[in-house]
Amino acid sequence: MMKRRTIQFAISLLLAVSFLIGCTPTSSDQPTPSTTPEKTATPVDLPTSTATPTPKPQPLNGQETQYFIDATVNYYNLFLEVTSRSIYTNKTSVPINEMVFIIYPAIYSAIYIKEVSTGDGIEVTNYTWDNHRMVIPLDDPLQPGEQIEFIHEFELYMPERGGVFSYSNGQLNLSYWFPFIPPFDETDGWIAHDIQLVNSEFVGEYIAFEASDFDVTLQFTDRRDNFMIAAPALPEEENGVIHYRLDLARTFTLSISDTFSVTEREVNGTKIQSYTLLGHASVGKVVADLAVEALTLYNELYGEYERDLLTIVEFNSDIGMEFDGLIFLSPTFYNLYPGTPKSNIHVYTAHEISHQWFFSMVGNDQALEPWLDEAFATFSERLFYERYYPEYLNWYLENYITSHNPYGYIDVSIYYGGDLYDYRNIVYRNGSLFLQDLRELMGDEAFFNLIQDYVQQYKYQIATSQGFITLLKSHTNTDLTPLLEEYFSSTFE
Ligand SMILES: [Zn+2]
Repeated sequence: MMKRRTIQFAISLLLAVSFLIGCTPTSSDQPTPSTTPEKTATPVDLPTSTATPTPKPQPLNGQETQYFIDATVNYYNLFLEVTSRSIYTNKTSVPINEMVFIIYPAIYSAIYIKEVSTGDGIEVTNYTWDNHRMVIPLDDPLQPGEQIEFIHEFELYMPERGGVFSYSNGQLNLSYWFPFIPPFDETDGWIAHDIQLVNSEFVGEYIAFEASDFDVTLQFTDRRDNFMIAAPALPEEENGVIHYRLDLARTFTLSISDTFSVTEREVNGTKIQSYTLLGHASVGKVVADLAVEALTLYNELYGEYERDLLTIVEFNSDIGMEFDGLIFLSPTFYNLYPGTPKSNIHVYTAHEISHQWFFSMVGNDQALEPWLDEAFATFSERLFYERYYPEYLNWYLENYITSHNPYGYIDVSIYYGGDLYDYRNIVYRNGSLFLQDLRELMGDEAFFNLIQDYVQQYKYQIATSQGFITLLKSHTNTDLTPLLEEYFSSTFE
């Protein structure tokens, strides 16, 4: 017998607000493009780095969490039946007394948990809820190096709305759609933060992710041929059963539609797929070409993208958003594409793709140290214009950075109290200015050597501000004190 559990959350507030948890601004907070005559920027040749970073041994010692997820999609009823198996190893040197699963669909009351059991089939009945987190006490603490397995059987009732977990306008978006385990810190315990709401808007992203391995199987109750699936990995398909593997990723996100168009490209062995909603196929081709440029540039500057697929998906929301191997872009960017590089499509394609390095490869605590991915992603926009559209660099800088008067210490958390606009001005835009100032201080060669080394050192790990600064200091003899005092409230060793 399965026990029905009622999930109750005091989060009705969440449902009353627009859902803006995204990583790039809405088009509405862009300024009106300047009418002053354009200045022509001097093209900058970015150097090819000569760094020879030392790769770490096997990431996470091969102990990363394994997720095996079987989903049956009843698309037209907005319903999924899912079994998710999570195999977790205690990678720390301290015992773990309770397991925590983040169950994001619970925020929308969109999940019904049918049963939770351990790997040996014993039903777990003593779990409790802490907001949208499931807490499972362990009778015997999980000792360092020990492994534990849980199985969640659940149903999803997809909320009809826009966003990363949603159904609307012929598109089903599955992000954060299964129970997942946050990182565990030996001192602080589970790294599971709360959402930050200011003026009814979500400020920043609040989830920290460990690199994990995903094995996902998908089936449809409807006619398979009706659907296209935008995914972060290339599928294997047999008799209507679609199978994906994605290793060392923080998330596994899918977008399914019965109206997608797709454009394909290839860069250096990586396939690029650009999916668009109705009427936007021609802009989807532009996006695919921009993705070729961005991937080529970042492969050169940051180190090689290691996946065989990069997917870009137009999705029903007014933001852009990054996941592993898959990014989302808002239809407003496509609708308003002016046919020139003076476009959100250029800026945000460059931005979101750079998150494959600064979010996916190099993880960070997005709630407490968001500059570690967003400053780099915003700075990448600049590098993209420098390389490919230098005559528009000043236009970009003026409209996306300087006219907003960025300010503030960039090492704020999402909880510092400012609203979304203020937060982005500090973390994204001033963060980008920090990296540019650092680059000018160090010179291009040393700066890009540092960035490549940083990516290699923290690949599949969770980086910290202190870790970045320590590495930075090992890459330069320049006195960094004035620069760090200008941009950081923290002091570093
Ligand atoms: Zn971002």
